Amino acid sequence: ETSRLEKYRDLPARTRDGVELTLRANIGLIGDMAIARRNGAVGVGLYRTEFPYMARSDFPDRNEQYHLYRRIIEGFGGDPVTIRTLDIGGDKALPYFTSPKEDNPFMGWRSVRVSLDHRDIFRTQIEAILMAGVHGPVKLLFPMISGMDELRGCRRIIKEASENLAREGIEFKEKVPVGVMIEVPSAVYLADRLAREVDFFALGTNDLIQYVLAADRNNPLVSKYYDPLHPAVLQVLKDIGQCAERNGIGLCICGEMATDPIHMTLLLGLGFREFSMAAPFIPRIKGFLGKISLADARKIAERALELEEGSLVREQIRRDLLTHGI
Ligand code: PEP
Ligand code: MG
Repeated sequence: ETSRLEKYRDLPARTRDGVELTLRANIGLIGDMAIARRNGAVGVGLYRTEFPYMARSDFPDRNEQYHLYRRIIEGFGGDPVTIRTLDIGGDKALPYFTSPKEDNPFMGWRSVRVSLDHRDIFRTQIEAILMAGVHGPVKLLFPMISGMDELRGCRRIIKEASENLAREGIEFKEKVPVGVMIEVPSAVYLADRLAREVDFFALGTNDLIQYVLAADRNNPLVSKYYDPLHPAVLQVLKDIGQCAERNGIGLCICGEMATDPIHMTLLLGLGFREFSMAAPFIPRIKGFLGKISLADARKIAERALELEEGSLVREQIRRDLLTHGI
């Protein structure tokens, strides 16, 4: 199995009719770098920085973070690395950082909300990212943005971080592309406004699906409600794709959704071209892409959008793929 998949590693990510896609890696710990390279990822679409923070007993200082980020940026040899700021809370806790017990942690004090309430920790991380940006193409990504005020709050911290570094006479990258995760329904409604103030969107399907459908992404009791092919989810995906296009900004799908060929067919047909996923899925997805044409994916997606239930969408796509001999 491994060698069969490895032969796809160096293949381009290209559909049967020659449309090129970009497949990047989601990474967390340093060991994921080698896995990403082994599987032919083109840079990093999502670096979840909370993982290195979790695997320790205290907050890393600026220099430590800088060296870690620099090592990752240099490890991808000139391909872009999107670094997402701390996304703790929800189901991710830091052992050395007391957070209140909450009844609804996924609706609670998590992610960028924590960062904005701890400006010192936040600014330190951003300073480390800007410093590392000297060594290769880096992008800065903010998670869980639910409104313009948070984005502007983040922008203010970037400004403070830059001023601080300049004052200290430390070398840093001045113009780093800034993006937001689209993973909260309010951000979907504000997408056009957000798009005017950012360079790219990262669509986090894991959280977006759970918030759109009010179905906890980790609760098996409601897993049948957590449906990536739910018509409401498909509508959101379509709208965000069009929004990014209309505003001329980048868009990367970086939830787990893209790792399934049925979902990938749909995403392809909806117009998405950039994906980031756990790297071991990349060879399999490349193999799948080689069998499907964009023209077919478009037709399949068009038909899927007409259907009224997620289960019907799934059956239809499966049937369509079979008809095309896939
Ligand atoms: C997501 O929410 O889809 C995502 C990519 O981020 P995470 O899984 O880390 O919440
Ligand atoms: Mg998320």
